[in-house]
Amino acid sequence: MKNKLPLTIKETQDGLIKKEFSAVELVDSYLGQIKRYNEEYNIFLTICEDEAYKKAKELDKSGAYATPLAGVVTSYKDIFLTKGVRTTAGSKVLESYIPPYSATSVSRIENAGAIPIGKLNCDAWAHGSSGENSDFGSTKNPWNKEYVPGGSSSGSGAALAANMSLITTGTDTCGSIRLPANYCFSVAIKPTYGAVSRYGVIAMASSLDTVGPIGRTVEDVETVFNVIKGEDGFDGTVTNEERKVKSEKLKIGIPKEFFTGGIDPEVEKTITLAIEVLKNEGVEFKEVTLPSTKYAIDVYYVIQPAEVSSNLGRFDGIRYGNGRDAFGDEAKRRIMLGTYVLSAGYYDAYYLKAMKVRSKIISEVDKVFDEVDALIAPVAPTPPFKLGDKVSDPLTMYLTDVYAATANLCGIPSLALPSGFSKLGLPLGFQLMGPRFSENNLFELGKTCHRAMSYEPKVAF
Ligand code: GLN
Repeated sequence: MKNKLPLTIKETQDGLIKKEFSAVELVDSYLGQIKRYNEEYNIFLTICEDEAYKKAKELDKSGAYATPLAGVVTSYKDIFLTKGVRTTAGSKVLESYIPPYSATSVSRIENAGAIPIGKLNCDAWAHGSSGENSDFGSTKNPWNKEYVPGGSSSGSGAALAANMSLITTGTDTCGSIRLPANYCFSVAIKPTYGAVSRYGVIAMASSLDTVGPIGRTVEDVETVFNVIKGEDGFDGTVTNEERKVKSEKLKIGIPKEFFTGGIDPEVEKTITLAIEVLKNEGVEFKEVTLPSTKYAIDVYYVIQPAEVSSNLGRFDGIRYGNGRDAFGDEAKRRIMLGTYVLSAGYYDAYYLKAMKVRSKIISEVDKVFDEVDALIAPVAPTPPFKLGDKVSDPLTMYLTDVYAATANLCGIPSLALPSGFSKLGLPLGFQLMGPRFSENNLFELGKTCHRAMSYEPKVAF
C-alpha cells in the first residue's frame, strides 16, 4: 500500500471500487507517515486517529465509494472549526478550545465522503508567511527541513509534501494558501471572494479572507472546490455565480509590475518556461500594465491590521479561551497597528487613503480583464527561505506577500501551480489570476499547463 502513494482522488476511488485497497488501509498508510515524521516536522497539531478509523470502517462496510470525496483522507488548517475537535488558530489563546459546530467547508467535505485525519499547524491567527508565527512551533518544509514551508497555512502545504493527507484546506487573506502550495510543490486555488462560505472559519481580515483547498493536482483541487463552493445561508457574501469556460483561444496577460525589482532569477525562469510551454499549446500572451498594483502590499498592510484589530476584539478571555496576555508578538503588533490606522486622527490619512487606492487597483485589474482572460505572476519573489532568516525583521517578512496582495484586494481567484525545483532542490511555481468567478477557466488553463509540462505529483518522502 505504502508504495502506491501519492494517489490522486480518482486513483483512490478507482482503487476502492476495484477493492485494490480498503479505506482502512488508506488511513493506515497516511497515519503511518504522520507517526513517522510529525514530531520532526511539526505539521499536525491534533491527530484524529479514532475518528479517521471510524469513518473508514463505515465506508468500507457500506461500500459507498461513489460520492465525490469518498475515501479522501483530509486534514484542515487549525483555523477551521471542527465540532468536538480542538481548534486553536495556532494560538495559545485557544489552546483548549473545542468548537460546538463545524465550518461549512468542513461539513461539506465530510458529507461528500472524506475521512478527516487531523488539524494542521499554522501561523497564529493566520498572521504570517512562513509558519514561524505559530505558538506551537514552526513547521518544517519536508523538501528540506532547514527551510520554511510557507505560511500561514504551513501545515496544509507540508502535509501534502510529506504524504500525510490527500487534500488539505487553507485560508488566503494575502497568499496563505498559494504560498505554502508553491513552497511545498502543491496546487491550490484561492477562490473568488464570495465563492466559498467562511462560516465557521476564524476571521482574520473580513474583506480579504477566502477559503480554499490544496492538493497535488489541478483535478483534485477542482473536485474539492466544487464540493465546498456556493451559498450556505450563513455567509452573506457568498453567491452561486459562475463564469462560463471560454472555449476559444485564451489570452494571458504578463503584468510588467510583477516582474521588476526583487524577483529571484530562478522564480522568473520557471515562469518564462511556463509561458513557453503554454505558447506551444496555442495560448496567446500579451504584456499588460497595472501601475497601481505596486501599492498593493502597502494598502494590504493598512487594511488588514485594521480588520484584524476589530476581529480579534472578541478574544477577550471572557467568551473563549485564555486572556489577552496569551496573544503572541505578531498578533499584538497587528492589533496596535490596526487600532492606530483606525483612530480618529489617523483614519483619513491611513485607512481611508488605503481604501481609495484599493478601489484604483480594482478598477485597473477589472479593465485589464477586458483584454486578457488571465494574468500570470509569481506567488512569492523568492524560493522557500531558511527558517529563522526573516523572523527578526517583520517588514522583510511582509514583503514575501508583495505578489499575493492584488488577488485579495480585488477579490479575484488565483490558481497556484507547481512547476519545478530550484538548484537547491526546493519547489518553485507561479500563479494564474482571473476575473471574479472564473475558477473554471483557471482550472482548464492549469490542466493544459501541467499536461504540456508532463507534470507528475511528487512527495518528499
Ligand atoms: N502573509 C500575510 C500576512 O501575514 C497573509 C496571511 C494570510 O493570507 N492569512 O498577513
